[in-house]
Amino acid sequence: MQNKQTIPFKNLKELIREFSDEQKCIDFLVQYRWHGSPVCPYCNSNKWYSIEKGKRFKCGNSQCYKKYSVTVGTIFHGSHIPLSTWFPALYFLSAHKKGISSCQLARDLGICQKTAWFMLHRIRESLRSKDSIFLKNLVEIDEVYIGGRIKNMSNKKRAAIKETGNLPDKTMIIGMIERDGELRLEVSPNSQKDNISAIVYKNVDKKAKLMTDGEGSYISIGKHYKSHESVNHVANEYVRDGFIHTNTIEGVFGLLRRSIIGVYHKLSPKHLARYCDEVQYRYNSRELKDNERFENMLGKIESRLTWKDLTKDNGLSKTVIEPKIEPKIGKQGRKRAVCQMLNGEIIATYPSIIEAAIATGIKAPALSRVVRGLRNSSGGYHWKYFE
Ligand SMILES: [Zn+2]
Repeated sequence: MQNKQTIPFKNLKELIREFSDEQKCIDFLVQYRWHGSPVCPYCNSNKWYSIEKGKRFKCGNSQCYKKYSVTVGTIFHGSHIPLSTWFPALYFLSAHKKGISSCQLARDLGICQKTAWFMLHRIRESLRSKDSIFLKNLVEIDEVYIGGRIKNMSNKKRAAIKETGNLPDKTMIIGMIERDGELRLEVSPNSQKDNISAIVYKNVDKKAKLMTDGEGSYISIGKHYKSHESVNHVANEYVRDGFIHTNTIEGVFGLLRRSIIGVYHKLSPKHLARYCDEVQYRYNSRELKDNERFENMLGKIESRLTWKDLTKDNGLSKTVIEPKIEPKIGKQGRKRAVCQMLNGEIIATYPSIIEAAIATGIKAPALSRVVRGLRNSSGGYHWKYFE
């Protein structure tokens, strides 16, 4: 997959036009994967014959003679969905800032929801970063809990909880971000210190300078690093000396939450890691244009998640997670997410003005006046509604 060819579209309209014909998609992928000359996946022979009117290939090695298609060994392998449907799906998931739900994808592409769901998970799985490059320099670390409230669950689930006495746990996600660099999101099996430290050690270079909140488990982790600064949220401290804060990672958690609230509505902890991969990938490729991101994703298709792997029990509870914060329509109107801005850049986002006020200690009416354009700044920051 080293051969990068020019992606023949700039937007969705051009993509649909360019890849409307299945043979065009096959030819494109042959060029992309094999520089136009197929390689046998079974014996690596580069002798080949075109069969079935160019749809498939036959190995030219007399010891092998196996037949194969261009999708062999990729996320498209063994799928009855044509490439002309897969390509727009790749585009939707990568270009839409909050992702796309399987229901929406099914409607957009005229396929059934279960198929769309499986396609999206295959794509997400391929987006997981497989290279283990450590995060360096200034690294912000924080955790977030994603999980449902019992009162939001169906009667059936509530009855099951009553019967078994097993309360569904919220699932913990550790977020690590290199300031002005890459993001890592990892699901922690539980909130024990050993698990958190293992995740941090796996992702963050020992020479890094850590920034966290005052959470106890980070104190001992910080001792293994070059330096460790923490801000005390309990004492309403959010930014110290202008650069000691965890606002960048909290902004990412805002994105993750909104992706779950606004698009996915509910999802299972079992699959949460893949949603994290998706958010992580989009964040880390934020500088790319939509067609460049599509090309980048094609570079990752050489792996496949099978239905069996997707549905097997990975130890995480099968309870459905429902969003913690639902946008409510009440007397005060709809809750709107707000962004905290510093020097023209978004440094954090919050689900509502009230929550921004609680988190930053700035008074809500002051924040409200800034977002409504009645004053310029509050608490040293500019504020605006999240679009
Ligand atoms: Zn062969």
